[in-house]
Amino acid sequence: MSRKFIPLSVPNLKGKELEYITHAVETEWVSTGGPYVNDFELKVAEYTKCKGAVSCQNGTSGLHIALEVCGVTKEDEVIVPTLTFIAAVNPVKYVGAEPVFMDCDDSLTMDVDKLKYFCETECSFTNGKLINNVTEKHIKAMIVVHVFGNMADMERIIEIANKYNLKVIEDATEAMGTYYIEGKYKGKHAGTIGDMGVYSFNGNKIMTTGGGGMIVSDNEELLGRAKHLTTQAKSDELYYTHDEIGYNYRMTNLQAALGLAQLEKLEDFIKVKKDNYDFYKDEIQKISGLEILAFKDTIRPNYWFYALYVEQGYALNRDQIIKYLASKKIQARPIWGLISDQKPYEGSQTHKIDKAGQYLEKVVNIPCSSNLSREDVAYVIECLKQPEVI
Ligand SMILES: *Cc1c(COP(=O)(O)O)cnc(C)c1O
Repeated sequence: MSRKFIPLSVPNLKGKELEYITHAVETEWVSTGGPYVNDFELKVAEYTKCKGAVSCQNGTSGLHIALEVCGVTKEDEVIVPTLTFIAAVNPVKYVGAEPVFMDCDDSLTMDVDKLKYFCETECSFTNGKLINNVTEKHIKAMIVVHVFGNMADMERIIEIANKYNLKVIEDATEAMGTYYIEGKYKGKHAGTIGDMGVYSFNGNKIMTTGGGGMIVSDNEELLGRAKHLTTQAKSDELYYTHDEIGYNYRMTNLQAALGLAQLEKLEDFIKVKKDNYDFYKDEIQKISGLEILAFKDTIRPNYWFYALYVEQGYALNRDQIIKYLASKKIQARPIWGLISDQKPYEGSQTHKIDKAGQYLEKVVNIPCSSNLSREDVAYVIECLKQPEVI
């Protein structure tokens, strides 16, 4: 019997997607007009319990707009993580600003101790501005990424941001559905704690619109600016008058039709992902040299991606595991190459990057789709129990 391929993370479209898409096509509302776009924005705001949401073409364009709305310009610098997908940082360059790269801690999110140390000792705070001692530039904002659906330490991050007058943009592209269950921000969703947050509905994310994104905030003025900029900055609906350079970033009715159907299923997806995560975690901790990295216990994570941590004691290293699983028709991938090591960021400033490189060497992402069956998970575990060098 030949086995079917088990992909890493693929869409799950078994709800009302076809019904809503068909309605969009039948009514011929396929572009950025149409009722589903507004409806989807309202539903996302309601689900994440924030004041409002502005749709966009993808997470990357959402981050671009968030930076513009937060007033980041080519004069400024932005603190960013090095261990994440490059789309979290490229928008800093779109607005002409420069990134300063930070390390991660054991949660894979930004190391807040290093962040604090950097602000305290490598910068000066003068006239309400955090100035980088090396470049003498104003650090105006930071981008915080909730890696794999885990939550960065928002309590301490917001304290630091308030102290140094930094805007906080949450890249919650991987964390739709993650929220605090205790502490100061109990009940608050990833993406809704800083000045602006961004979700992605790319095909590999926990819910998808094919491609798509959403900007959320509790600040209505910022949301208004975001809507204005994503819709060509019209100052008049009828006459073609525009008061600044805008973008054509709004989501289409077709994307929003998918999004509405996916949102109805999100809690079900999270439940399946949690069950599969627990199963993997329990079985894999019995294998010497392997473990599944934990999510923080102060949050209800969305369990988006599972991070298999490979220690010396296991028979295979990261690359050998990926090859071996591929031979068993199981897709696995390393985490991202550090952004500060990528060609476009060769000259960029970094601050004490250390753990990110260690995790890069040792983490492998294993299948986590919400339509992954228990049998599929059992098969992946069986394979990991009998490692072979390929
Ligand atoms: C997916 C992702 C993005 C970009 O989202 P798109 O919708 O693909 O543009 C940005 N940052 C991180 C951390 C991501 O995982």
